[in-house]
Amino acid sequence: METNWYEGGLRLIEEVTTNAEQIQDELLSEILTRNAGTEYLRRFLHGQTDKQLFKKNVPVVTYEDLKPYIDRIANGERSDVLLAEPITGFLMRHEHVAFVCLQIFSGTSGGQPKLTPDIAEVANKWQLFRTLYESPVMKHFGDINQGDKRMEFLFARPEIETPSGLTATSVSTSVYKKSGFKAMLRKFHTSPVEAIFCPEPEQSLYCQLLFGLIQRDEVILVGSAFASTVLRAIKFLENHWQELCSDIKAGLISHRITDSGCRSAASLIMKPNPQLADMIQNICKSKSWEGIIRKLWPKANYVRCVCTGVMSHYTEELEFYCRGLPLVSAAYASSEAQYGINLNPLCKPADASYTFLPNMAYFEFLPVKNDHDESIEMRSNDNEDTESVDLVNVKPGHRYELLVTTSTGLYRYKVGDVLMVTGFHNNAPQFQFVERQNVAISVDQEKTSEADLFKAVTEAKALLDPLGFVLTEYTSYADTSSAPGHYVLFWELKQKEGNHCKELDPKIMVECCYRLEESLHYTYKIYRKKNIIAPLEIRVVKQGTFDALMDHYVSKGASLSQYKRPSCIKSKEALKILDSRVMGKFFSPKSPL
Ligand code: AMP
Repeated sequence: METNWYEGGLRLIEEVTTNAEQIQDELLSEILTRNAGTEYLRRFLHGQTDKQLFKKNVPVVTYEDLKPYIDRIANGERSDVLLAEPITGFLMRHEHVAFVCLQIFSGTSGGQPKLTPDIAEVANKWQLFRTLYESPVMKHFGDINQGDKRMEFLFARPEIETPSGLTATSVSTSVYKKSGFKAMLRKFHTSPVEAIFCPEPEQSLYCQLLFGLIQRDEVILVGSAFASTVLRAIKFLENHWQELCSDIKAGLISHRITDSGCRSAASLIMKPNPQLADMIQNICKSKSWEGIIRKLWPKANYVRCVCTGVMSHYTEELEFYCRGLPLVSAAYASSEAQYGINLNPLCKPADASYTFLPNMAYFEFLPVKNDHDESIEMRSNDNEDTESVDLVNVKPGHRYELLVTTSTGLYRYKVGDVLMVTGFHNNAPQFQFVERQNVAISVDQEKTSEADLFKAVTEAKALLDPLGFVLTEYTSYADTSSAPGHYVLFWELKQKEGNHCKELDPKIMVECCYRLEESLHYTYKIYRKKNIIAPLEIRVVKQGTFDALMDHYVSKGASLSQYKRPSCIKSKEALKILDSRVMGKFFSPKSPL
């Protein structure tokens, strides 16, 4: 690998952010020219490709609007009903909210993933995006050299076949499958390809940790796509380090790993190494696991994973395990497209802003009103009446919902994310991730967003700090089984030191309920005062409950690489998993002021 390859990436970032407007206009014009003849665009543009006409006539859509077209392609119709480029398959995304609602209405136990068309260009875009988001990181931490390894926990998902014989796969799996990526994995990653493609997530994780520990002196980076997956891996290690050490000592992988790919990959590198096993054992048996990542992988320079948005909650716990190693949130993207990169990788995770790359997709922004502090709920979903703003015209401090137009058949498509402008790099705006749109808990007319909930939980959990407890996971549930309905928060707690949980003080837990209510928005508090909402409840669940929840979603098809804990539970099955592990219930004692 040539030295300083990232310098080319940095130059390209400068170029595209400087010429943001021109690049966006050219990209849109190219997409419209290529796709003007599709059945979908002909409906609105009658073969024309003018930008103003596009904005005036083509509607802002959600997945549900495009689904009839996608279903037609999946059932064997020509893909040019929606896009001109020949499709190579579908990319699928499991959205917990969509998928659990479907379960409730259809009564089935399976969920329907969202499918978007995949074309040859998509893989190239991901490769370019990776170069661009890695470049600023490499500028700070240096190039990857011969012999250096990345320990990234990656999980491919099995493909499914559509009635027309096309395959649908998660975006991460489609990237891992490319031969260039596999070659890079073999050279620069500790995880064997066989483990990444192992269909059993637990066996895969065990094997990836085993390989990471065996090659611990070469590891310069620890990471995964999302913070929750890195934490899951560390917690798994807390429960399995003895078994892993005895494998390393004997030079044989545990019998419970039955996957033939994992076993044969292990047989190629494992040989008895009692010295290494003892070293790892000595580190792992220490009472506190503070800084364990740095101790186990002493050459690691940083931990890379998304720590913003719904992942912010995991930052504190991850920082405990990293102690001293920076947490780098490098990129913002989704299954549909790539969006922005973090030009300041050393910033605190909470301050991460993503500079949008104008060459990735055509972006528009719908202004979002956000005013809980007024007596009228103004968070509106009726954005259709609001004009969209171009990438270069967004305003600092303002919030927007993101729309993308791509060559994969998405035109003015709502990604479902709300972002806030924090500044500009050259002519390209930088955004902080605010929240998923519509992921709100609500029992009456009020709406509480993911960000509102996060803020209130952060205030309330501070009460547990002096007692040595850490809130490791939470989610919410709108309990309307009796009137008036009330908010339920499921909390999983652990002690800062050690693994078991000492007795909780009921007085403090009740205080936490009250603090939560006090920290929620104006409308919530008014409704509570008027008894339109009953007292908030915290249900403390046993340790490991949220792992069980993750296992549940993964068993239903969600990718472990892309898993995000739902902020609000809607599925009866998921609720059952949580409720069956409740250790204590606490209620707010009075209505907030
Ligand atoms: P998926 O398509 O499953 O990879 O999920 C994509 C979604 O994950 C995005 O639409 C965001 O809601 C969230 N996401 C991805 N990257 C980030 C990030 N850097 N910060 C916050 N949320 C993110």
